[in-house]
Amino acid sequence: MEKKKKILIVEDEKNIAQVLLYNLVKAGYEAEVASDGGAGLARGSSGEFDLILLDIMLPVMNGFEVCERLRRVTQVPIIFVTAREEEKDKILGLDTGADDYVTKPFSFRELLSRIRANIRRSSSEPVAEKKAEQSEPILIGDLCIDRERYSVTRKGEEIELSKKDYDFLVFLAENAGHAYSRAELLEQVWGYDGYIGDVRNVDVTVCRLRNKLEDDPGRPEYLLTKRGVGYYLRLP
Ligand code: CA
Repeated sequence: MEKKKKILIVEDEKNIAQVLLYNLVKAGYEAEVASDGGAGLARGSSGEFDLILLDIMLPVMNGFEVCERLRRVTQVPIIFVTAREEEKDKILGLDTGADDYVTKPFSFRELLSRIRANIRRSSSEPVAEKKAEQSEPILIGDLCIDRERYSVTRKGEEIELSKKDYDFLVFLAENAGHAYSRAELLEQVWGYDGYIGDVRNVDVTVCRLRNKLEDDPGRPEYLLTKRGVGYYLRLP
């Protein structure tokens, strides 16, 4: 039998934590609750978990800080659980390193499909890594995407990207010249059925990447918009 996936719930509201714990166990996961940011960071760094659900307003240390510090030690999928629109905007705007977010109140069914999609993505990565070992760097203009080293450089200068932004760029680079709709990109890069995800995720990712890749983000030369279709990376 396959080993149960283990989820860490970082949540200070006892009722919410208990409901999540109960439902996750019922859905076949192992789950554990950390009730403040410090405990969340300590448990989340342990390497024992397949995914972390992270509240934002937390005692000791807020969720943004927990996420940032976790990202220094682990690539475990992190889903923010937000209570407010402002928090959602902050997640989208900041390079927090989170893989996803859900807004309270959420349906457990929706949360579960996000959890599945994120775990599926992260556990399928070893295969992708193996494939990448044999792949040549992709060169597009001054841009060099080296999948073997997980690095992106422009004119020889390293560009720091979050894991999601990197995945997004690699997907477009491997299919350079082909334009994808935002829903297609959500499905391909985030692993959702289009109707679940927020297409704004795609726009914000494009905006962030343009700021890092382009000389003039307002007049991009690499990551281009195809009117009425979506986005694409120009051909080498
Ligand atoms: Ca809270």
